[in-house]
Order: sequence, then structure tokens, then C-alpha cells
Amino acid sequence: AVDVRGVHKSFGALDVLAGIDLQVRKGEVTVILGPSGSGKSTLLRTLNHLEKVDRGTIRIDGELIGYRRRGNKLHELRPREVLRQRSRIGFVFQNFNLFPHLTALENVVEAPLSAQKRERSAVEAEARELLRRVGVGDKIHDYPKQLSGGQQQRVAIARALALRPAVILFDEPTSALDPELVGEVLEVIRDLARDGTTLVIVTHEIGFAREVADTVVFMDGGVIVEQGPPADVLDRPTHDRTRAFLSRVL
Ligand code: ATP
Ligand code: MG
Repeated sequence: AVDVRGVHKSFGALDVLAGIDLQVRKGEVTVILGPSGSGKSTLLRTLNHLEKVDRGTIRIDGELIGYRRRGNKLHELRPREVLRQRSRIGFVFQNFNLFPHLTALENVVEAPLSAQKRERSAVEAEARELLRRVGVGDKIHDYPKQLSGGQQQRVAIARALALRPAVILFDEPTSALDPELVGEVLEVIRDLARDGTTLVIVTHEIGFAREVADTVVFMDGGVIVEQGPPADVLDRPTHDRTRAFLSRVL
């Protein structure tokens, strides 16, 4: 579902992504680990063109992201086209990022109505079902500030699902939560993984990674140092940098 080839990205003199190749198959869960500043968030942001790449290509379900090819040249897509592409890519951030002036239900129906031009009654029915599924079916008319962090994050997940996305990207979805609320959010993500939703998750929850990941990717210094099944990368890492990182976080 996700195909990243030769992606480079610099900020000034800093090579934040220094040649990333990553394939995520449909229905698979990829967990990205790595120290602070290793480029994890930047990589996620390039996947939906929130960050433009300097070099390389990204395809999601076969579609080139952010560009159109004409002959040998890539031309950047117009903003409308970028928005259309983004509307098939769910993104769940650390800080929930719900619209504060919209209720839970309104947050979930917003993009399907405005970006995907779907029909309101069907979208609302689906949104209610999704909010039930993530365990906030009794909170659909509440505003974000009336919800706990864990409830807000579950609404954010329902909002991502409402896009019927090709993939959902999670950037440290539990790191802003009080410890007692982490479990309820991980439980929802675990259910998505079981249902075969394609997920790319940046997290520091190693136990969770071991449990849900088909592939664990370890990034450091803008490159993928090592990737493979969790039993290999987490229990038998072959690189010193992976070992050093794991010994710090485990
Ligand atoms: P963390 O675990 O702390 O979230 P990360 O692996 O997600 O780290 P990124 O946020 O991708 O790391 O940042 C990688 C590097 O790129 C950092 O050194 C960061 O300061 C730099 N960086 C990120 N965004 C920008 C930007 N818009 N302008 C300049 N530098 C940036
Ligand atoms: Mg980050």
C-alpha cells in the first residue's frame, strides 16, 4: 500500500532523511522506532506531502504522492489535488488535533463531507458507528475540551477511519496521554491492526510494537538502520545502534 523509494529531505545543512526506502503491504502494521531527531515525524509527514521531499518518490496504492509525472519530469500537484490525495491518508497526531469548535461527531464527518463530497446522512451514520467502535458512542455531541485525552485521541482515530483511508499514520499517539489513558488508545489501535487496517505507527511503546507489528523499522540519523519482524529487530538486533537504543528504552 505504501512504497517509499530513495527519499531525501534536508532542512538547511541537516539531512533529516538521507535515502529512505520503505514498503508497507496492504493490511500490514509497520512500527517505526528511533531516537529523538532521527527523522520519524518528517518521514510520516512526507507520506502525505505535508513535507515535500527533495529527492525520491512516494506511492500510496500505486498513486504518486504530491507529483504528476510528465515525460521524465515530476511536476508538483495543485493544492486541490494534494488535498484529494491527503483525504485517503489518515493521520493521528500526538496532540489529537481535533477541531475545538466542533463536536466529536462533527469532527468525524468534516472531511468525508468537504474533501470527499460524500452524502451527509450516510456519512453521519458511518461516523456514529465508528465513534461507537472506538468506545465514545455516548460522547458524540461533546466538544473536545469536554473529553479526556484518551477519548479525544479515540475520536481522532474515528476521524481518520471515516476517510476510508488506504493507510493510517500515527505519530506517537499515546505520548501526550496520562499513563492511565494509554491502554485504552492502544486497545483501539490493536483492534485496527487485527482487522487488517494498514498502519504506520511511530511509538516508543516497545511492548506494543512487539505485539502488533508485522515489521519494526529502526531509524537513526535519517536512515533505516535495520528492519524486520519484531522478533528479529527487538530481540536479536544486528546493529550496535539498534542495540544501544533498545537498551536505553527497554
Ligand atoms: P522525536 O522522537 O523527537 O519526535 P523525530 O524522529 O520525529 O524526533 P523529526 O521531527 O523528524 O524527528 O526531526 C528530525 C530533525 O529535523 C530534527 O533535528 C529536527 O530539528 C529537524 N526538523 C524537523 N522539522 C524541521 C523544520 N520544519 N525545519 C527545520 N528543521 C526541522
Ligand atoms: Mg517526532
